[in-house]
Amino acid sequence: MEFLRELPLEVSPRDRIRNWDEFHLHTPDEKLQTQAARCMDCGTPFCHTGTTFGGMASGCPINNLIPEWNDLIYRGLWREALDRLHKTNNFPEFTGRVCPAPCEGACVLGITNPPVTIKNIEYSIIEKGWESGWVEPSPPQKRTGKKVAVIGSGPAGLCAAAQLNTAGHTVTVYERADRPGGLLMYGIPNMKLDKQEVVLRRLKVLEDEGVIFVCNTEVGKDVPVETLLQGFDAVVLCTGSTRPRDLPIAGRDLKGIHFAMDFLTANTQAVLDGSPGENYISAAGKDVVIIGGGDTGTDCVGTSIRHGCKSVTQLEIMPKPPTERAANNPWPEWPKTYRLDYGQEEAVTQFGEDPRCYTTTATKFEGDENGQIKAIHTAQIEWVKNEAGRFTPNPIPGTEKVIPAQLVLLAMGFLGPEQPLLDALGLDRDGRSNVKADYEKYNTSIPGVFAAGDCRRGQSLVVWAFNEGRGVARECDRYLMGHSDLP
Ligand SMILES: Cc1cc2nc3c(=O)[nH]c(=O)nc-3n(C[C@H](O)[C@H](O)[C@H](O)COP(=O)(O)OP(=O)(O)OC[C@H]3O[C@@H](n4cnc5c(N)ncnc54)[C@H](O)[C@@H]3O)c2cc1C
Ligand code: SF4
Repeated sequence: MEFLRELPLEVSPRDRIRNWDEFHLHTPDEKLQTQAARCMDCGTPFCHTGTTFGGMASGCPINNLIPEWNDLIYRGLWREALDRLHKTNNFPEFTGRVCPAPCEGACVLGITNPPVTIKNIEYSIIEKGWESGWVEPSPPQKRTGKKVAVIGSGPAGLCAAAQLNTAGHTVTVYERADRPGGLLMYGIPNMKLDKQEVVLRRLKVLEDEGVIFVCNTEVGKDVPVETLLQGFDAVVLCTGSTRPRDLPIAGRDLKGIHFAMDFLTANTQAVLDGSPGENYISAAGKDVVIIGGGDTGTDCVGTSIRHGCKSVTQLEIMPKPPTERAANNPWPEWPKTYRLDYGQEEAVTQFGEDPRCYTTTATKFEGDENGQIKAIHTAQIEWVKNEAGRFTPNPIPGTEKVIPAQLVLLAMGFLGPEQPLLDALGLDRDGRSNVKADYEKYNTSIPGVFAAGDCRRGQSLVVWAFNEGRGVARECDRYLMGHSDLP
């Protein structure tokens, strides 16, 4: 009641678009204490409940003990707050930077006032922990003699590996990319999550705790699945949802149309290696059109601006959300309201407007005489119920436009995990081609083989990958030992 919400500090868009440095800044301790004091320590803290209301996520999916650490920060007990945070979150430095914070959407204060800045307090607790040398390797005191292979080193695989290692199992993480981290390394760009300073810092602790990383190794190709099944007591699949949705309209085969992940991965590789590799895709001097308005699209906007693009446009098929919660989207659901994410904020600074064109679809790509994309044709759509009662997008006649484009990036989401490895293992799939395994059980159709994260639930969030990584470790430990003390 006494203090207003103050947003975390960031480098200004004007300055940050000149480099790939992370844009998060530290908030002074006194300010954080004041912000933590805004927490009402509710009897029923919806913020840490982590559930779904009306099919929508609400609260923290890993049940972070938010009111408890808010109170500890208010009282200046940082070390205790860190210990409380690590009880539920293996890697708060990742969620503290990239989580969309469903906790804040469910904060009780949010019913009448702006919610507590929970995510920034989480970020500040863990950063204080690193600065103070409180985050140290803590290898298990006893080994069980059991060996577990984790396939994929994204947030789900890393959480599973960390927890299984804590339980005393010997964990080997296989990763086909040249560096571990999954989308933490090669999806989310450096300015949002620093690779050297933040991702590698944590990977080093995991290695010092005894987790073995084997990179440049694709399971099913470089290592046959039989070797894995025979050589390990259990296998945990965390291979992600990596099949991008395509847009098979006229002109799709023109040069200059790429999947967003090819653009983003090659860019981060260039940032880390210090020079562009052979797969590098440059947006410099180009009119860039990004198809898709989600996180991936936003990352493409920020990356294109840093390349020095001539213009950037983002096509979004959904309508522009309202500025306030709609009546059918009440607290404590995740608020589906209009906001400027970092990429759009940078576009406003650079080009004067939000790059998103709502309720807009691409109808065809137009090329030049060299087979290179030169423009994209678009139309406004309206959402109409079809005979089956499902809403479908219908182009509105007379709303067609032609937008110049020398680079088009497809960021329309993902269709599920790659199938060859799942075929080789002979695993059952669900109706959406994900690995079939029940939530909170994680056991697949083959005993001893578990699945978690985006390859099981479909494309989602880092914090849900943490939830599943911790859960699959507990169930795998139970399978190996007959019981589990893992949370
Ligand atoms: C561009 C982009 C930006 C995003 N931004 C955010 C964000 O800001 N906040 C947020 O919460 N979420 C974000 N997400 C979503 C989030 O990153 C994912 O939900 C999360 O990473 C899923 O974790 P995962 O461990 O299941 O899979 P992934 O992170 O996809 O990791 C899977 C790993 O498995 C490896 N792999 C696959 N097959 C094999 C094999 N056969 N052998 C060896 N290795 C294999 C892959 O190389 C990959 O490294 C973003 C997603 C994208 C694409
Ligand atoms: S992990 Fe995400 S939802 Fe949970 S407390 Fe942190 S920001 Fe909130």
